[in-house]
Amino acid sequence: AKRKGLNQFAFYSSAMSSENSENLELFNSVRKAVLNQEFLVYYQPQVDASSRKIVGAEALLRWNHPKKGMISPAVFIPILEETGVIFAVEEQVLYTACSQSKRWQEQGREPIPVHVNISSPHFIRSGFVSTVEKVLQKTGLSPQYLGLEITENVAMNHSDHVMKVFEELSKIGIRMSIDDFGTGYSSLSYLQNYPIDTLKIDQSFVRQIGQHEGSEKIVRMIIYLAQSLGLHVLAEGVETEAQLRYMFHYGCTNIQGYLFSKPVPANELEKLVGDSEWNLIE
Ligand code: C2E
Ligand code: CA
Ligand code: CA
Ligand code: CA
Repeated sequence: AKRKGLNQFAFYSSAMSSENSENLELFNSVRKAVLNQEFLVYYQPQVDASSRKIVGAEALLRWNHPKKGMISPAVFIPILEETGVIFAVEEQVLYTACSQSKRWQEQGREPIPVHVNISSPHFIRSGFVSTVEKVLQKTGLSPQYLGLEITENVAMNHSDHVMKVFEELSKIGIRMSIDDFGTGYSSLSYLQNYPIDTLKIDQSFVRQIGQHEGSEKIVRMIIYLAQSLGLHVLAEGVETEAQLRYMFHYGCTNIQGYLFSKPVPANELEKLVGDSEWNLIE
């Protein structure tokens, strides 16, 4: 299956229509990175605020560069998008995360649903739903254990196409999260129209709890909004017990952050599952 993902570069190279040599160099470096399997998937646990059990994991891309070491996705995702390599790489992330979740179940563990980030060009690309279906079929993962994280700007684009993609994915049984919620210039009306499962409160608000009243108000507003609409709400970037307590107090259902764990390789996540030391609020 890995090979197949790589062969797709033959198609994407045509996206490199620009004769710009700088682009070409970038393209070659990311292309080499894929061929050398320098891209890895890490997992960060998502924890239920009341039981403090791991209820899922977000798949996060890592570039393990032979010379530069681990490179942050914030740096290279834009390069992947510019060069069109993002489609193949995200398909690989999707495949890796789904097979990992399936493997955990086959090992007799409690199911760990995986949540995969999808860039806007990928989400709106024709054939995206078939790609997801193909990956589920190949890995044998049941769709209820797959979530996709999409940023607000995609959802805000009220096109019939975006609506159709949301509906098709939801019909398959996949759960949709709105990532970085509150950071875009969002109209809220799309929340009524799309089958959404979870709002993810951006860490920029979470970080300011106890320091900035405005951010606290936004956090409470997002939790209230999610509750009113019957959606789950997840706070990301929770680093302190005070932030956790705040979220728990106002009814935030799910937590993700360094307080519990940084993103880690699959084998390290396994060790965290069933860990009963997370009795932080008593
Ligand atoms: P994101 O989707 O908002 O993911 C959360 C980011 O916050 C991750 O950064 C995670 O490591 C970090 N984080 C989680 N908890 C804490 C915390 O308590 N404190 C702090 N300081 N940070 C925390 P990461 O892994 O560097 O990823 C950055 C961004 O790159 C992601 O933000 C996401 O937008 C993007 N990304 C990662 N993988 C993919 C992918 O496969 N596809 C796409 N399109 N984007 C991806
Ligand atoms: Ca995310
Ligand atoms: Ca975020
Ligand atoms: Ca993000």
